[in-house]
Amino acid sequence: MIIEKITSTTSQKGYAARVVPIELIYEINKDFQKLNDNQLLDPDIRDNVANVYMCDFANIPFSVKSVIVTASPCYITKVYFNWEGKRIPLIMPPTYMDYMDKPNEIKKDLQEILADNNYHIEIAWLPGKMIAAKSRLSQYGKNNITYIPGMGSFALLTTYYSDLPCNESNWDDITMMERCKTCNACIKNCPTGAISHDRFLVKAERCLTYHNEFSDAKEFPTWINPSAHNSIVGCMHCQTCCPVNSKYLDNIVELDEFNADETEWIAQGIPISELPSETIEKLERIKVINFYDKLTRNIKALLKNFLKF
Ligand code: SF4
Ligand code: SF4
Repeated sequence: MIIEKITSTTSQKGYAARVVPIELIYEINKDFQKLNDNQLLDPDIRDNVANVYMCDFANIPFSVKSVIVTASPCYITKVYFNWEGKRIPLIMPPTYMDYMDKPNEIKKDLQEILADNNYHIEIAWLPGKMIAAKSRLSQYGKNNITYIPGMGSFALLTTYYSDLPCNESNWDDITMMERCKTCNACIKNCPTGAISHDRFLVKAERCLTYHNEFSDAKEFPTWINPSAHNSIVGCMHCQTCCPVNSKYLDNIVELDEFNADETEWIAQGIPISELPSETIEKLERIKVINFYDKLTRNIKALLKNFLKF
């Protein structure tokens, strides 16, 4: 009854949700171990993501019985920079704008439903993609991105612990979208050869997202073609070329504009403590403040690309 209410209320609000028993989540930890044992994970990547696979809820102040996974639609962000006399639009993939605030917004909605029956909820840091795929909320594409009906891959996945009992086992092996059987667009369009024909996992160590979001290197590796860079952080190539996403490509929100001085400061790597408060506010608004140490490298690569055309 409560689970049905969660499904219907979230659907009315434009989200999608599934509830799964906590015991099933342990399987994901085993799958992760298996990938690791078979040496299918790059050690750096493994260390970066290991925490979310641990399913550690020791500090959750109630007896965890289930996990709720939600998918909410999100938008590509467009931001303008001014450099060498040109106004240059740069983008960020969907989810970057939402990943800080949306989980709390959804938590409030879920809390209202659960509180009536004295159940509780807390945000969980779990492998949302896998939980969504195994609970049949989503399917995988060959690009290792999950797709939600009615949202394409432009969706933020969030996970929550709850003490709501759940005996349903709507849980299966992950599946690939039907459309992928006759399509290789993402493989052909990935500029770094990160997507394989033979496995779901991308070679994360070759993916631009790894290099522009997680790596602290001052310069990109020389094997990455400079023209490959396309997003302030992350990469959009395998999502924009995907036919399943074609009707969501106009889901763009335009946000701030950085004037010529601000663009120059960012491109020169002026420390954040020396930036005017209005510039810091803009960086906060577009949710890149946590990546500021990577912005100089990323933005310079994009601005150089843009000026070539
Ligand atoms: S581009 Fe084609 S192969 Fe790749 S995820 Fe989309 S439908 Fe599947
Ligand atoms: S995000 Fe970019 S680099 Fe990574 S797999 Fe997709 S197209 Fe390739």
